[in-house]
Parts: sequence; C-alpha cells; structure tokens
Amino acid sequence: MAKREYPLERTRNIGIMAHIDAGKTTTTERILYYTGKIHKIGETHDGASQMDFMEQEKERGITIQSAATTAVWHGFFDQFEKTPYRVNIIDTPGHVDFTIEVERALRVLDGAVAVLDGAAGVEPQTETVWRQATTYDVPRIVFVNKMDKMGADFQMSVDSIHERLQVNAEAIQWPIGAEDDFEAVIDLITQEAYYPVDELGEKWEARDIPAELKDLSEEKRNTLIEAVADVDDDLMEKYLEGEDISVAELKAAVRRATLALQFYPVLAGSAYKDKGVQMMLDAVVDYLPGPLDVKAYIANDPKTGEEIDLIADDSKSFAALAFKIMTDPFVGRLTFMRVYTGTLQSGSYVQNTSSDTRERVGRLLQMHATSRTEIEEVFSGDIAAAIGLKNTTTGDSLTAVDHQLVLESMEFPEPVIELAIEPKTKADQDKLSNAIQKLAEEDPSFRATTNPETGDTLIAGMGELQLDIMVDRMRREFNVEATVGAPQVAYREAFTKTVQARGYFKRQSGGKGQYGDVYIEFSPNEEGAGFEFDDAIVGGVVPREYIPSVE
Ligand code: GDP
Repeated sequence: MAKREYPLERTRNIGIMAHIDAGKTTTTERILYYTGKIHKIGETHDGASQMDFMEQEKERGITIQSAATTAVWHGFFDQFEKTPYRVNIIDTPGHVDFTIEVERALRVLDGAVAVLDGAAGVEPQTETVWRQATTYDVPRIVFVNKMDKMGADFQMSVDSIHERLQVNAEAIQWPIGAEDDFEAVIDLITQEAYYPVDELGEKWEARDIPAELKDLSEEKRNTLIEAVADVDDDLMEKYLEGEDISVAELKAAVRRATLALQFYPVLAGSAYKDKGVQMMLDAVVDYLPGPLDVKAYIANDPKTGEEIDLIADDSKSFAALAFKIMTDPFVGRLTFMRVYTGTLQSGSYVQNTSSDTRERVGRLLQMHATSRTEIEEVFSGDIAAAIGLKNTTTGDSLTAVDHQLVLESMEFPEPVIELAIEPKTKADQDKLSNAIQKLAEEDPSFRATTNPETGDTLIAGMGELQLDIMVDRMRREFNVEATVGAPQVAYREAFTKTVQARGYFKRQSGGKGQYGDVYIEFSPNEEGAGFEFDDAIVGGVVPREYIPSVE
C-alpha cells in the first residue's frame, strides 16, 4: 500500500468561479505558476494557455472542460515548506451556457474562489454561479481581480457583493492604489502592507501601512470584526468586552464564519500584474474547508435504503463519485473521480452501483498543469483520473465491490435548446450517432432525440454555444461533418419582443432557461399549456412587469 503524501487536513479541493472575462483563467494560471507547476506565464488569449488545453477553448478564449489539476502550496512566506498543502483545482467554466459543468464541479469541491472584475464588481453570471454554490453549501472567498484596470474600484466591488448577492462579506485586504497606481496589498488582519520586490511578484516584503491609509485600514479592520462578530459568538464576546482582538483570534473567527457560510472574506489583486495571488492561496488554506471540515456526503445503502454519512477516512471502504469523463488524445477515456472514503489502488476492481456493473481500474493518474503522474493509490478526500472504466458515466457512484453504496447523484436540468442535425453525407449517419453518444456520455446536459413526425435527429443542450461546440467537436474528434437546422424553439418571438433579449425557451413541463444575462425559472400553468413565471427571476435586470405570462 502506498503512503499518503498529504494529510487530509492539508488538502483543499477548490473551484474558481467567475463571470466570463473576470480573469478566472489568468488567476488559475498564476496559481499554477506560483505553486511551481508551470514555468512560463502564458497569456490566456494568445494560445499559450495551460488550462485551456482544448483547441476549442483556445480559439474562443473560454474554458469549457472541467479539468482537475493538482498543485502544491508551500505558503506565501514558505511557511508550509515542511508540510505543504495539496490544492486540487477543479476548473469550472465561465460561460453561462455551461452551468451544467459548473454544477458538476460544485458537487465535488469543498470550497471556491469567486473572481470578480474589479472594475465591474458582481456581474450577472457571478450571480448565477454564486447561487449554484449556495445550493451546494460551498464556502467561498472573493478575489477582486483586475485592480490595475481602468475604472477598478475595490469599495464598489465590495458594495456590489452586498447589493447583488445580499450576503455578509467584508474585505480582509485593502488595495494600495488602483488602476495604473495599484501597487500593493494591505492585510487588514495583521495590519501590514505587502509590496512586491521583483518583476513577477514572486518575492514580497512586509512594510508599514502608508501614513495616509492608516486610519482607513483600522476602520476597515473594525468593519471586518463587526461583520464576523455578528455571526460568531466567541468573537462577539471579545468585541463587546472591548478587548484587543489578536491576529490568531480574528483569523480563527473568519475561518469559522466562512465554513459556516455566514461570511465571505474579500481579497484584492491583479492576476495579470502578478499581485495578490499568493496571498489568495494563503487565504484558501486559512479560510476554505478541507475534506474533514465539510458536511458529510450522503450515500444510500441499496439493501436497506438507509442513509449513511461519508466522512473522509482512509480506513473505511472505498466510495467515490465520477464527476467528469474526458477523452484524452494520449490515453483515451479518463474518468475523474472524487474519493469520499477509503482508498483505491490501480489494477483493482470497483463496483459501479449506478449501473450495477463491475469494472477494473487500469491506471490512476494525477493531472498537473503540464504533466500527469501515474499513482498507485488514491486516498479519501482526493481527486484522481482513472483509465479503463468503460461503462462509467458522469454522476455514477463507484464503490468497493463488497461495500455497495449509491452516492447522492447529480441532477441534470432539462435542455433548453434543440437543433436538427444531419450528416453532410448519408454514409456518415452511423459515425454521427456514435459521436453524439460519446459526447452525451461526457456531458449529460447534451442529448439527442428523434423527431417523431419527421424522423430527424435533434440535439439538445443548455445553450447555442454549447451545441456549436459539440458540432465542432464532432468534426474535429470524430471526423463527421454535420449541418444543423434552426433552433426549434417555442415562444422565442414573444420573449424577444417583450424583453428585447436573446433567449430560447422550449415547450416543456417546467424547467429553467436563460436569455441574455438574465436567468429565469418557469413552470407550466395549471392546464399544462403555456407558462407562467414564478417569482424566481434572478438577477433583477428585467423588471417583473415586463415578463408576460404566455398563453
Ligand atoms: P476568464 O474568462 O474569466 O477565464 O478570464 P481570462 O483570464 O481569460 O481574462 C479575460 C481577459 O482579462 C484577458 O484578456 C486577460 O488578459 C484579462 N485579465 C485577466 N486578469 C487581469 C487583471 O488582473 N488585470 C487586467 N487589466 N486584465 C486582466
């Protein structure tokens, strides 16, 4: 048996979530750089990106695939050098068409970093992913990125969190300067300023807070204490007694409140200008949960139906969730799994309790930014990719053969857009069907049906961009040229006219849809024909009175 390299309490499974263009990819790359996994800082949109390894993503400059990358963090001041942290980054896509990918990632991560554009604050898709993270009880820290950008305004960004997300969030850092003058970052907890001393921001030094920012820093530290004390009795007691609150006490209270989803620490930086990313990694370690801190994962015993808590523990039987299937050009089909309990060795058999099949894990891999390492064994709380699982699809439970449990499965929303598809040459019909089937195994929000009246093949998904990409992948990866027909969408007209927004709503019995930057949930009216809107309009961009009920 292999030895566990990182103790459970030194493991973090995190996701980075953002509105498109807020800087998720750039931030992720800097994390990989500072954790020593990549040696060249690549610009996201010039094709040198490390995370966006699919051609599609490079061309479009968006992240689609939810890859899990393992990094090692030694600390901003190498304070964890002897016992570093293992940080698994589960990549979540930024485009709203791929919310399904976001949901799937949220399911298996323990904490998240929400990246904001410091000039824009909270944006519509920030709200969408924030809401999803709330559904899955994921503790979060907020990284206000792009503090160097024209129009960057940290206070505005913090205010936008209060206004648009309506949560208890306060700064734990404060930027020194903004836009071209963004220079350094104040740690409000320690009341120290950190300045970079080299070009790439690798080395930093602590200095006194500039005289003109001293009062502001103290005031902001108090604001932080009050916000956390509001939700933390221990800190409240100290605060009411008027005692000085030490760095350690405040950090501990911020951690408790963040893990309890009662508080969201806000940080400042600029990934592009190499500022603030290492401090953010320290905050990941300080304030985001490890596998032992999160609510136990629930599984059902298929024999008794009894609910069982899965708390990370290597000595228990193996139980894992397959959260992502990817086809890798070198090794073929990869099944990404999050292990909840027990350990799994390469070469051993697992039970897929979702499909009731037994499968053998050929090899186990840990994915890094630019390399992959073969591992003998994966431990509880960790993430790995397995080669050789042919019948496992996204959302399946994998367990030890003699300990069959069904893990709480993932929910996949109904598709909201449908297109007719046909191969350019009739002879390609089988190849097309095969491609659709493979792609649907990777992404359960992508489906194919046959139109009962015309016999046409229809593909359905969460948005136009997603289907575009699927058709493109059919061409690149499966060598099938296909043509697609106009979206088969009911009520498109009505919405376009009324709210002046793009949108696709499929006639179906309830579900979710989105148009432009607004996210809507709707349900069928009593007769089951047409729709009426709930109050569930999220984002608040379109006033409710502009949304008609459709007869
Ligand atoms: P994503 O869509 O959230 O992954 O965003 P990207 O990381 O691809 O960044 C979008 C654009 O913003 C790119 O052109 C980046 O170079 C730029 N960008 C990212 N971070 C920063 C930053 O800190 N400051 C500035 N000025 N630009 C940034």
